[in-house]
Amino acid sequence: MPATRRDHKVLFTPGPTEVDPEILREMARPVIGHRGVEMQQLIKDLTPRLRPLFGTRAHDIFLTTCSATGLWEAALRNCVARRVLVPVCGAFSERFYEVALACGLEADPLHVESGRAVQAQGIADMLATGRYDAVALVHNETATGVTNSLSEIAEAVRRQGDVVFLVDAVSSLGGIPVEVDRNGIDVCLASVQKCLALPPGFSICAVSQRALERSARRVGKGYYLDFVRLKSFFDRNLPMATPSVSHLFALRAQMKRIEAEGLEARYARHRVLADLARAWASARFALFAEDKARSNTVTCVANTRAIDVARFIQELAARGFAISNGYGRLKEATFRLGHMGDHTADGLRELLGAMDAILSEVFA
Ligand SMILES: *Cc1c(COP(=O)(O)O)cnc(C)c1O
Repeated sequence: MPATRRDHKVLFTPGPTEVDPEILREMARPVIGHRGVEMQQLIKDLTPRLRPLFGTRAHDIFLTTCSATGLWEAALRNCVARRVLVPVCGAFSERFYEVALACGLEADPLHVESGRAVQAQGIADMLATGRYDAVALVHNETATGVTNSLSEIAEAVRRQGDVVFLVDAVSSLGGIPVEVDRNGIDVCLASVQKCLALPPGFSICAVSQRALERSARRVGKGYYLDFVRLKSFFDRNLPMATPSVSHLFALRAQMKRIEAEGLEARYARHRVLADLARAWASARFALFAEDKARSNTVTCVANTRAIDVARFIQELAARGFAISNGYGRLKEATFRLGHMGDHTADGLRELLGAMDAILSEVFA
């Protein structure tokens, strides 16, 4: 992020995040039709590129023109027949639960104290009742800066047998390993405006054979995001309805950039960014998330100095940066730094420097 680029606010928000100019240019390409060979080639090129990102060899990959909220509905409506368990550890996981209810499904929340991670044992205990046929988990809770342990929770889900594992990897996919196959994830979903650093309005998911079998038996799952219908189109490398073609161009370009960086290097870069953000925050404020569960893509800073967060954000805006206030109930109690996508350590240091300047000049 060059220091000179101040024609807009550089986004250090935990979604949307800063989009590279190269990607913005891809979005401006001339539109192509969505029923022709060019489109088929585009999708055929994209699908295998997305598999390593998800960590899956054989799941179906669907590219959907809606934000991840649409895929929350899709995962739940296609896969839950009896009752879904939704661990709630912040505002996003709470909304995942609310979406289940809004879809008319039987659902129970499993509440965890804000700032803490979901414990696998709690899930195992609930599943042992035999009431559930699905678990819907937010991997990285963007409201609190907590990353839940996929491997431990996956183990609890796997032990229970025929329980499908639905995972929101919206603010982790591309920044923190998700490992769909290794973790037995049936539906893994993400928007593209978080760690993939594309403009918002598009989403992707990986769907297992088992999820498709569930979907085939479900009625009342709707049309637009019916997994069986989506598969019948994507098997032919075609979108089901008119997609955001511009996003497909941008995603292809971004996947090439991600491959050039290398996934491991990308995850390592996110770890470096998180270390910088956490060191800054703990020296000046405190970290909201519990130790060992702190996210590598978003840092939730506890506002221990009781600064006026709205004013802080305003001052940062004047210096060309955007960060986020706390989410929902945490609005003034915290503020959040998104360090996901294509951000670099130098770029983040600029933000941290600007925040220090404001702290000493405005909040001294
Ligand atoms: C941003 C976010 C969402 C919502 O995604 P939309 O693209 O706005 O629908 C869901 N879950 C998590 C964890 C998020 O960070």
